[in-house]
Amino acid sequence: MPRPKEPTDFAEDALIARIGKRLSIGPRAAPALRLGLGDDAAILRANAAEDWIFSTDFSLEGVHFRLDTHPPDAVGYRALARAASDLAAMGSEPAFFLLSLAIPRARAGRWLDAMLAGMRRAARRLGLRLVGGDTTCWPQVAISITVIGRAAPGRAIRRDGARPGDLICVSGRLGGAALGLALLLQKRRAAGGKAAIASRRNSLLRPHLYPQIPVALGLHLARQRLASAMMDLSDGLSTDLARLAKASRVKARIHLDRLPAVRVPPALARRGIRAETLALNGGEDYGLLFTVPAARASRIPRAFRGSPITVIGEIREGRGVEAADAHGRIRPLTSAGWDPFRRSS
Ligand SMILES: [Mg+2]
Repeated sequence: MPRPKEPTDFAEDALIARIGKRLSIGPRAAPALRLGLGDDAAILRANAAEDWIFSTDFSLEGVHFRLDTHPPDAVGYRALARAASDLAAMGSEPAFFLLSLAIPRARAGRWLDAMLAGMRRAARRLGLRLVGGDTTCWPQVAISITVIGRAAPGRAIRRDGARPGDLICVSGRLGGAALGLALLLQKRRAAGGKAAIASRRNSLLRPHLYPQIPVALGLHLARQRLASAMMDLSDGLSTDLARLAKASRVKARIHLDRLPAVRVPPALARRGIRAETLALNGGEDYGLLFTVPAARASRIPRAFRGSPITVIGEIREGRGVEAADAHGRIRPLTSAGWDPFRRSS
C-alpha cells in the first residue's frame, strides 16, 4: 500500500508546477493575462466588455477510453464534454473549440464518422462551434480539444476565492461515472477480455459514456455572484476539494452522511463496491464543486435544471481536507482520486 499522500504530492500537480516554473509568464509580461496556469482554465481580457476563457483536454485511447468497450459516438461525446467542463467550472459560456486528432488509418472511415457524430451532438448541446484544429496519422486514437469560452469581465470564478465560513456545495450525484466504468470493465472481464462494446441504452453507463456538463448552473452562479470559488469534479471529490482548499489557503470539512452518493445496485454492493468510496474518489462526474459565503446560503437552489445541489460541508481556518462521519468523528481525508502518473491501470 502506498502511504497516504498530501495533495501536494500528487504527481500530476507536481508536473504542472514543473512546467509552470519553466514556462509560465506573469501579468506584467502579458497585460491581457488575468489568470494563468493552475486553475481549470486561463483567463484573458479581450477588451473592456469581455474576458475569454481557454482550456485544453486530452482524450487518449487506453487512458480515457478503450476501443473495445466504448462506443465510438461516446468517445466523441465525452472528449468534447470533458473539455467543456473546465469552461463550466469557470462560470463561462462555451463558444468555440479546436480539435486535434491523431488516428490510425483503419479508424479513418466508419469509426471516425460515428465518433464525430457523438462530438457533434455534444457540440450542439454545449453551444460550442469548431473553428480549427489539426489531424495526423498515429497508431492509436488521440484527441486533444481546446475550448474557448466567454465571461463578463472579472466574473469568471476561480479556485482561490473560498473563505472560512463559506459552505461547500456540489451539483449532481457523486460516483455515477466511476460506477459506470466499473460496470463496463466488469463486462469486458466477463467476456474473457474480448471486445464488449457497451450498450448506449444502459442507464447506469450513461454518466460515464455521456457526461452532462452543468454549463447553465456555472453561468447562473457567476452571474448571480453566488460562488466564491469553483472547479469541476474531474478527478474525484477527495482530490479536487484538496486542490480548491490549497488554492484558497483554507481547510475544507465535509460531512460524509451528506454526500449525494450514487445508488449502488445490490448485486454490485455485494461485490464490495461502496457508494461512499465512489463518491469520494471516483472521478469524471463533471459536476461542479463550489463554495458560497454563508450570507448568501439562502440563495443556493436545491436543484438546478433537474440536477440536485447539495451542501456537503464548510470552509474553515487551516489547511487540508477533513471528513466528519455520522457520529461527528473527524479524520483527515486522503486525496485518493484519479492521478494519471500514480496509477498503474
Ligand atoms: Mg477542471
